[in-house]
Amino acid sequence: MRSKTKPKGDDYTMTNLKLASLNGERGQRTVVTVGSVRVGEDFVVIAGPCSVESEEQLIKTARKVKEAGGNMLRGGAFKPRTSPYDFQGLGLKGLKILEKAKKETGLPVVTEVIDPRDVSWVCEYADVLQIGTRNMQNYTLLKEVGKVDKPVLLKRGMYSTLKEWLNCAEYILAEGNPNVILCERGIRTFETYTRNTLDLSIVPSVKEVSHLPIIVDPSHGTGRLSIIEPMSLAAMAAGADGVMIEVHHNPSEALCDKDQAMSPDMFAGMMRKLEVLGSCMKEINNETGHQDRIAGKKSSIALNV
Ligand code: PEP
Ligand code: MN
Repeated sequence: MRSKTKPKGDDYTMTNLKLASLNGERGQRTVVTVGSVRVGEDFVVIAGPCSVESEEQLIKTARKVKEAGGNMLRGGAFKPRTSPYDFQGLGLKGLKILEKAKKETGLPVVTEVIDPRDVSWVCEYADVLQIGTRNMQNYTLLKEVGKVDKPVLLKRGMYSTLKEWLNCAEYILAEGNPNVILCERGIRTFETYTRNTLDLSIVPSVKEVSHLPIIVDPSHGTGRLSIIEPMSLAAMAAGADGVMIEVHHNPSEALCDKDQAMSPDMFAGMMRKLEVLGSCMKEINNETGHQDRIAGKKSSIALNV
C-alpha cells in the first residue's frame, strides 16, 4: 500500500531512483519469493550461524532453527573479517555444507558473496545472495548480482544514508534483477555500548519512499545477546518484513561473533514472543484499516506481518 506522507525537501526527492522508489512501481510493494517464503508479505525469520564451521555445526543448528519456526537458514562461507588473521570461512566446502543443510531441513539458504568473480557459481548453492555492509557500495559486485536470477539481500553500509543505500539497490534493479531485500544492520555512531546503533527509524522511512521489503539484523545491529530479542520485537512493531538472527547450536564454541550468537533455546523463546506480537500487529493493522474505512480513507499503513 502506498504511503500518504512522503518526506519533503530536495534531499528526499530521490529523483534518480527510477526503480527503487515507490513512484517507480506505481505504489505497489515488492514481494520477493524464495521457495515458499514470501518476503514483503509474511514476517520472515532468517537464522543460523555467523559462519559455516563444519557439517555437524550447521546441521545441528539448522535443525534447531527449523524446529523453532525459522523460515530461512543463514551462514557465511566467505567471511569479510576485520582482521586478515581471523577465520575467513570455508568457501566452497561451506557452500556444500549449506546445500546439505538445505536438503535436510528444506530451509532456503542465505549466504554472502564478497567477490564479483564468485557470483555465478555461488548462485548454484545460494537461494539468496547476501551483500554485506562492507560491500554495499562495491558497484562491480552490485552490477554482477544484478545480472543473476537469485534474490539479493542488501545490507545497509555502516556509514550510509538511506539515499546512498537505495541508490545501491538501484544498481541491482537497473541490471534487471527485481528481487532486492534491504537489511538494516546498524550504523556507526559515537555509542560504544552496542556494537552498532540499530536504526529502526529506517524501517518506516524505507516504507515511505521505496517499495522494497526491509528486514532487520539485530545481531550485528547490537552485538549484545541481551538486546537482540527486544530489538527483534521492536523491528516487527516498526513494520519490518522480517529479522535475521545469528544462532549457534553451541555459542561458546562459535568461531565468529560468539558473543552475539543465540542458543537454540533462546531463539525458540524469542520466536514464541514474535508469534504473539505478530497476532497483535495483525489486529492493529485491521483496526487501522477499519478506522480508515470509517473515515472513508484508504489505509496508509504498510506493515506486513
Ligand atoms: C553477516 O551477516 O554475516 C555479516 C558479516 O554482517 P554485516 O555485513 O552486516 O557485518
Ligand atoms: Mn556475524
